[in-house]
Amino acid sequence: MASAGDSTRRGAPKATPPKPPKSRRAGLTPGEARRESKRARAARAAEVVTRLAAEYPDHRIALDFQTPLQLLVATILAAQCTDVRVNLVTPELFARLPTVRDLAAAPLPLLEELVHSTGFFHNKARALKALGQALVADHGGEVPATMEELTRLPGVGRKTANVVLGNAFGTPEGVVVDTHVIRLANRLYFSRESDPEAIERDLMEIFPRERWIDAANLLTHHGRAVCKARRPECERCVVNPLCPSAEA
Ligand code: SF4
Repeated sequence: MASAGDSTRRGAPKATPPKPPKSRRAGLTPGEARRESKRARAARAAEVVTRLAAEYPDHRIALDFQTPLQLLVATILAAQCTDVRVNLVTPELFARLPTVRDLAAAPLPLLEELVHSTGFFHNKARALKALGQALVADHGGEVPATMEELTRLPGVGRKTANVVLGNAFGTPEGVVVDTHVIRLANRLYFSRESDPEAIERDLMEIFPRERWIDAANLLTHHGRAVCKARRPECERCVVNPLCPSAEA
């Protein structure tokens, strides 16, 4: 029978050395982010946007457009579809139906054919025709430039209105909150909400109005390029030290 001192003899299994204490990440921890003051969060958010702006100098919205109407149409088509796909479809759509009146008068089968590859083409074709008809009937064929009027149009919600107001008119009334912005706002602890309108309110508090357009576009760009939904690439992320969710 082995004595109590056998484990120290040659050949006995070595005791597992204690793990060294985990080194603390250089950046902000989740606990610190939860206790962060609004002022500190706003300062951190400003630094995040500055770093992302340096990383993505061309951070305009990814949808191609020349006019408010084109951006409105492209944004409706971008629901459940990539911007790249929408940009492949819109040149022919805009060439064949260049005005609001063309959109309103277009036969549904033609609209369906033109937007087919963006998915949900029955609904999208109907939405575009209804939009054209409402713009002709109520706005003299022009796209209105206020949140109230835009969100009264068929198929236009707050997010779409924010896209158009910010990117086509340059008069943001809010922050565009898409799927990327939701994810990054949560990972960066800019908001702990899950409802898009609640996230938008949080972002409007921490970013000054003149950064609302940029902030949303930059977060979207970064979400596509680095802070991806399934596996964020934290090791090459320029805002890593400012991110409480950083994994490296
Ligand atoms: S990639 Fe990582 S470090 Fe960068 S914002 Fe996303 S979670 Fe944070």
